[in-house]
Amino acid sequence: MSDLSSSIEGGCQCGAVRYRIAGEALMTALCHCTTCRRANAAPAVAWAMFEASQVEFATQEPTVYESSPGARRSFCARCGTQICFTADYIPGLIDVTIGSLDQPERLAPVMHSWDSKRLPWLALSDDLVRHPEFPPQA
Ligand SMILES: [Zn+2]
Ligand SMILES: [Zn+2]
Repeated sequence: MSDLSSSIEGGCQCGAVRYRIAGEALMTALCHCTTCRRANAAPAVAWAMFEASQVEFATQEPTVYESSPGARRSFCARCGTQICFTADYIPGLIDVTIGSLDQPERLAPVMHSWDSKRLPWLALSDDLVRHPEFPPQA
């Protein structure tokens, strides 16, 4: 989890979208779902979840796309970097792509989500919990 003593910063590849996050992540996960895969054009996507109020954009906000009913993905309109995810089923929360952090090594996934959709050639030798679908909500 994150270091409370310093904020987390990140942004897109071109620099048009920059953000700063205060405090610790509520949850981190490596997601294998098909919409994350397609939206990011990547085999799996690492996410860190925060209260929406923890995340502040220092520049323009990313462009929002409704990737499925009630779920929104945000990305830089110029360079295409995926930045965040919000959804009606997680009100007040925001997922940020760990890959867009300036120091992505600071936040490690603690679980796999949608492991039932993991690509068969993606063999990861960690001991993290593997949820077949979206992890159960507290
Ligand atoms: Zn950009
Ligand atoms: Zn996903």
